[in-house]
Amino acid sequence: MTNKYMYFIANWKMFGGLSTLNSLSKVIKFLKIFKNSNKTKIIYCPPSTLINPMSKKVMNSKIQVGAQNCHESLTYGASTGSINPMMLKNAGAKYVILGHSENRESGETDKLINAKIKSATKSGLKVIFCIGETLVQKRKKITKKILSKQITLGLQKINKKKNIVIAYEPVWSIGTGIIPKPDDLFDTINFIKKKVRNIKVLYGGSVNPKNINELKLIKNIDGFLVGGASQDHKKFIDIIKKTYN
Ligand code: PEP
Repeated sequence: MTNKYMYFIANWKMFGGLSTLNSLSKVIKFLKIFKNSNKTKIIYCPPSTLINPMSKKVMNSKIQVGAQNCHESLTYGASTGSINPMMLKNAGAKYVILGHSENRESGETDKLINAKIKSATKSGLKVIFCIGETLVQKRKKITKKILSKQITLGLQKINKKKNIVIAYEPVWSIGTGIIPKPDDLFDTINFIKKKVRNIKVLYGGSVNPKNINELKLIKNIDGFLVGGASQDHKKFIDIIKKTYN
Protein backbone atom coordinates (compact mmCIF):
# COMPACT_ATOMS: atom_id res chain seq x y z
CA MET A 1 0.00 0.00 0.00
CA THR A 2 1.12 3.52 -0.65
CA ASN A 3 0.11 6.82 0.79
CA LYS A 4 2.10 8.85 -1.69
CA TYR A 5 1.09 11.27 -4.40
CA MET A 6 1.24 9.13 -7.55
CA TYR A 7 1.08 9.62 -11.30
CA PHE A 8 -1.01 7.30 -13.45
CA ILE A 9 -0.38 7.90 -17.11
CA ALA A 10 -2.37 6.11 -19.79
CA ASN A 11 -0.49 5.69 -23.05
CA TRP A 12 -3.11 4.65 -25.57
CA LYS A 13 -0.54 4.32 -28.38
CA MET A 14 -2.37 3.82 -31.72
CA PHE A 15 -5.67 3.01 -30.07
CA GLY A 16 -9.08 4.65 -29.92
CA GLY A 17 -11.67 6.55 -31.87
CA LEU A 18 -14.32 9.08 -30.93
CA SER A 19 -16.60 6.41 -29.51
CA THR A 20 -13.81 5.11 -27.24
CA LEU A 21 -13.99 8.38 -25.32
CA ASN A 22 -17.27 7.22 -23.75
CA SER A 23 -15.29 4.92 -21.47
CA LEU A 24 -13.75 7.99 -19.83
CA SER A 25 -17.08 8.84 -18.19
CA LYS A 26 -16.57 5.78 -15.98
CA VAL A 27 -13.08 6.90 -14.99
CA ILE A 28 -14.29 10.44 -14.26
CA LYS A 29 -17.09 9.04 -12.10
CA PHE A 30 -14.69 6.76 -10.26
CA LEU A 31 -12.27 9.59 -9.54
CA LYS A 32 -15.09 11.68 -8.04
CA ILE A 33 -15.84 9.07 -5.41
CA PHE A 34 -12.37 7.56 -4.91
CA LYS A 35 -11.15 8.51 -1.44
CA ASN A 36 -7.51 8.79 -2.53
CA SER A 37 -8.27 10.85 -5.61
CA ASN A 38 -6.49 13.90 -4.22
CA LYS A 39 -3.28 11.88 -4.09
CA THR A 40 -3.37 11.04 -7.78
CA LYS A 41 -2.41 12.75 -10.99
CA ILE A 42 -4.19 11.15 -13.92
CA ILE A 43 -3.00 11.84 -17.45
CA TYR A 44 -4.40 10.27 -20.60
CA CYS A 45 -2.23 10.32 -23.71
CA PRO A 46 -4.41 9.36 -26.67
CA PRO A 47 -3.38 9.52 -30.32
CA SER A 48 -3.25 13.09 -31.66
CA THR A 49 -6.62 12.71 -33.36
CA LEU A 50 -8.29 12.47 -29.95
CA ILE A 51 -6.44 15.17 -28.01
CA ASN A 52 -8.99 17.87 -28.63
CA PRO A 53 -12.20 15.84 -28.18
CA MET A 54 -10.71 14.16 -25.12
CA SER A 55 -9.75 17.53 -23.62
CA LYS A 56 -13.36 18.64 -23.98
CA LYS A 57 -14.64 15.41 -22.52
CA VAL A 58 -12.47 15.62 -19.37
CA MET A 59 -12.95 19.34 -18.78
CA ASN A 60 -13.75 19.98 -15.08
CA SER A 61 -12.51 16.53 -14.10
CA LYS A 62 -9.27 15.31 -12.53
CA ILE A 63 -8.02 13.96 -15.83
CA GLN A 64 -5.46 15.85 -17.89
CA VAL A 65 -4.55 15.12 -21.48
CA GLY A 66 -1.14 14.55 -23.00
CA ALA A 67 0.29 13.81 -26.44
CA GLN A 68 2.48 10.86 -27.37
CA ASN A 69 5.15 12.78 -29.28
CA CYS A 70 5.79 16.12 -30.97
CA HIS A 71 8.02 17.77 -33.53
CA GLU A 72 11.17 19.49 -32.28
CA SER A 73 10.23 22.79 -33.86
CA LEU A 74 8.26 25.09 -31.58
CA THR A 75 6.26 26.75 -34.31
CA TYR A 76 5.41 26.52 -38.00
CA GLY A 77 7.69 24.59 -40.31
CA ALA A 78 7.41 22.88 -43.67
CA SER A 79 7.14 19.41 -42.16
CA THR A 80 4.32 17.39 -43.61
CA GLY A 81 2.55 15.18 -41.11
CA SER A 82 4.19 16.71 -38.03
CA ILE A 83 2.66 18.44 -35.04
CA ASN A 84 4.57 20.97 -32.95
CA PRO A 85 4.18 21.57 -29.20
CA MET A 86 2.24 24.81 -29.64
CA MET A 87 -0.33 22.98 -31.74
CA LEU A 88 -0.66 20.30 -29.08
CA LYS A 89 -1.20 22.95 -26.43
CA ASN A 90 -3.74 24.64 -28.60
CA ALA A 91 -5.60 21.35 -28.93
CA GLY A 92 -5.76 20.97 -25.15
CA ALA A 93 -2.68 18.90 -24.27
CA LYS A 94 -0.88 19.67 -21.03
CA TYR A 95 1.77 16.95 -21.30
CA VAL A 96 3.77 15.15 -23.96
CA ILE A 97 5.53 11.79 -23.85
CA LEU A 98 9.03 12.07 -25.35
CA GLY A 99 11.76 9.48 -25.90
CA HIS A 100 9.40 6.51 -25.93
CA SER A 101 11.33 3.40 -26.94
CA GLU A 102 8.95 2.75 -29.84
CA ASN A 103 10.04 6.10 -31.26
CA ARG A 104 13.69 5.57 -30.37
CA GLU A 105 13.44 2.27 -32.29
CA SER A 106 12.21 4.10 -35.33
CA GLY A 107 15.23 6.39 -35.31
CA GLU A 108 14.83 9.09 -32.68
CA THR A 109 18.25 9.95 -31.29
CA ASP A 110 19.09 11.35 -27.85
CA LYS A 111 19.94 14.62 -29.58
CA LEU A 112 16.55 14.84 -31.26
CA ILE A 113 14.78 13.93 -28.03
CA ASN A 114 16.73 16.70 -26.28
CA ALA A 115 15.57 19.21 -28.90
CA LYS A 116 11.99 18.03 -28.47
CA ILE A 117 12.15 18.33 -24.68
CA LYS A 118 13.50 21.89 -24.97
CA SER A 119 10.83 22.87 -27.42
CA ALA A 120 8.00 21.22 -25.49
CA THR A 121 8.95 22.81 -22.16
CA LYS A 122 9.34 26.18 -23.86
CA SER A 123 5.78 25.87 -25.12
CA GLY A 124 4.54 25.23 -21.59
CA LEU A 125 3.91 21.53 -22.02
CA LYS A 126 5.04 19.20 -19.26
CA VAL A 127 7.24 16.35 -20.38
CA ILE A 128 7.13 12.64 -19.62
CA PHE A 129 10.69 11.68 -20.58
CA CYS A 130 11.07 7.94 -21.26
CA ILE A 131 14.30 6.06 -20.82
CA GLY A 132 15.12 2.37 -20.71
CA GLU A 133 17.53 -0.34 -21.76
CA THR A 134 16.97 -3.13 -24.28
CA LEU A 135 17.20 -6.81 -23.40
CA VAL A 136 20.63 -7.08 -25.02
CA GLN A 137 21.88 -4.15 -22.97
CA LYS A 138 20.42 -5.66 -19.80
CA ARG A 139 22.16 -8.97 -20.53
CA LYS A 140 25.42 -7.15 -21.09
CA LYS A 141 24.86 -5.54 -17.68
CA ILE A 142 25.15 -2.03 -19.09
CA THR A 143 21.72 -0.78 -17.98
CA LYS A 144 23.11 2.04 -15.83
CA LYS A 145 25.54 3.14 -18.53
CA ILE A 146 22.68 3.31 -21.05
CA LEU A 147 20.34 5.16 -18.70
CA SER A 148 23.11 7.54 -17.80
CA LYS A 149 23.73 8.35 -21.46
CA GLN A 150 20.04 8.77 -22.23
CA ILE A 151 19.65 11.13 -19.28
CA THR A 152 22.81 13.15 -19.92
CA LEU A 153 22.11 13.67 -23.62
CA GLY A 154 18.34 13.91 -23.34
CA LEU A 155 18.48 16.57 -20.65
CA GLN A 156 21.55 18.39 -21.93
CA LYS A 157 21.45 22.14 -21.26
CA ILE A 158 18.08 21.89 -19.56
CA ASN A 159 18.50 23.52 -16.19
CA LYS A 160 14.90 23.79 -15.11
CA LYS A 161 13.53 20.32 -14.70
CA LYS A 162 10.44 21.09 -12.70
CA ASN A 163 8.17 20.38 -15.66
CA ILE A 164 9.77 17.06 -16.45
CA VAL A 165 9.08 13.61 -15.03
CA ILE A 166 11.09 10.56 -16.01
CA ALA A 167 9.45 7.28 -16.94
CA TYR A 168 11.80 4.34 -16.60
CA GLU A 169 10.58 1.81 -19.15
CA PRO A 170 12.83 -1.18 -19.75
CA VAL A 171 12.28 -2.00 -23.43
CA TRP A 172 12.15 -5.73 -22.66
CA SER A 173 9.22 -5.13 -20.37
CA ILE A 174 7.01 -3.12 -22.72
CA GLY A 175 4.12 -5.24 -23.93
CA THR A 176 5.77 -8.50 -22.85
CA GLY A 177 4.10 -9.15 -19.51
CA ILE A 178 7.53 -9.30 -17.86
CA ILE A 179 8.44 -6.82 -15.14
CA PRO A 180 11.79 -6.24 -13.43
CA LYS A 181 12.59 -7.91 -10.12
CA PRO A 182 11.55 -5.58 -7.26
CA ASP A 183 15.09 -5.15 -5.90
CA ASP A 184 16.48 -4.38 -9.36
CA LEU A 185 13.71 -1.89 -10.01
CA PHE A 186 14.25 -0.16 -6.66
CA ASP A 187 17.95 0.06 -7.38
CA THR A 188 17.48 1.43 -10.90
CA ILE A 189 14.97 4.06 -9.79
CA ASN A 190 17.36 5.06 -7.03
CA PHE A 191 20.16 5.38 -9.55
CA ILE A 192 18.02 7.67 -11.74
CA LYS A 193 17.03 9.81 -8.75
CA LYS A 194 20.66 10.21 -7.75
CA LYS A 195 21.59 11.21 -11.28
CA VAL A 196 18.77 13.76 -11.56
CA ARG A 197 18.00 15.35 -8.21
CA ASN A 198 14.43 16.26 -7.23
CA ILE A 199 12.72 14.53 -10.11
CA LYS A 200 9.74 12.20 -10.10
CA VAL A 201 10.47 8.78 -11.55
CA LEU A 202 7.67 6.57 -12.80
CA TYR A 203 7.82 2.96 -13.89
CA GLY A 204 6.35 1.69 -17.16
CA GLY A 205 6.29 -1.72 -18.78
CA SER A 206 3.47 -4.29 -18.64
CA VAL A 207 1.81 -2.75 -15.58
CA ASN A 208 -1.50 -4.54 -15.03
CA PRO A 209 -4.07 -5.14 -12.27
CA LYS A 210 -2.19 -8.25 -11.10
CA ASN A 211 1.41 -7.13 -10.93
CA ILE A 212 0.46 -3.73 -9.45
CA ASN A 213 0.27 -5.51 -6.08
CA GLU A 214 3.98 -6.19 -6.33
CA LEU A 215 4.96 -2.90 -7.96
CA LYS A 216 3.16 -0.70 -5.43
CA LEU A 217 5.46 -2.02 -2.71
CA ILE A 218 8.48 -0.43 -4.35
CA LYS A 219 8.78 2.71 -2.28
CA ASN A 220 10.72 5.02 -4.57
CA ILE A 221 8.35 4.77 -7.56
CA ASP A 222 6.29 7.96 -8.08
CA GLY A 223 3.72 6.48 -10.41
CA PHE A 224 3.08 4.32 -13.44
CA LEU A 225 3.01 4.71 -17.19
CA VAL A 226 0.49 2.18 -18.41
CA GLY A 227 0.21 1.14 -22.05
CA GLY A 228 -1.97 -1.82 -23.05
CA ALA A 229 -3.89 -2.07 -19.75
CA SER A 230 -4.90 1.60 -19.89
CA GLN A 231 -7.01 0.98 -22.99
CA ASP A 232 -9.48 -0.88 -20.78
CA HIS A 233 -10.98 1.56 -18.27
CA LYS A 234 -11.75 -1.24 -15.80
CA LYS A 235 -8.13 -2.35 -15.71
CA PHE A 236 -6.87 1.21 -15.40
CA ILE A 237 -9.26 1.94 -12.52
CA ASP A 238 -8.21 -1.31 -10.88
CA ILE A 239 -4.54 -0.34 -11.09
CA ILE A 240 -5.25 3.02 -9.45
CA LYS A 241 -7.43 1.46 -6.71
CA LYS A 242 -5.01 -1.33 -5.88
CA THR A 243 -2.06 1.04 -5.60
CA TYR A 244 -3.70 2.50 -2.48
CA ASN A 245 -5.11 -0.73 -1.03
C1 PEP B 1 4.27 1.87 -22.92
O1 PEP B 1 4.19 1.67 -24.12
O2 PEP B 1 4.62 2.98 -22.50
C2 PEP B 1 3.93 0.78 -22.01
C3 PEP B 1 4.26 0.91 -20.76
O3 PEP B 1 3.28 -0.29 -22.56
P1 PEP B 1 2.72 -1.60 -21.82
O4 PEP B 1 2.11 -1.17 -20.52
O5 PEP B 1 1.70 -2.15 -22.77
O6 PEP B 1 3.88 -2.50 -21.62
